[in-house]
Amino acid sequence: MQCRNCGTEIADKAIVCFRCGHATTDPVRRAVPVKPRRSLVVPVIVAGVMILAALAIGYGSTTAADPDRW
Ligand SMILES: [Zn+2]
Repeated sequence: MQCRNCGTEIADKAIVCFRCGHATTDPVRRAVPVKPRRSLVVPVIVAGVMILAALAIGYGSTTAADPDRW
């Protein structure tokens, strides 16, 4: 097979071109779905931390306000 990038003749089983390092397959298709997943993890974690922080603040304010009320 020939390298798509430089046209060098390489082995059919070669994963990347030995000359230019260009991938013979399409790793981009595999990498693309991975990136959105990673990008979604951070907002989810941030949202979870904010929710926990809000609950902690709300819990702390209620517990702090209870002794005053009683
Ligand atoms: Zn090449």
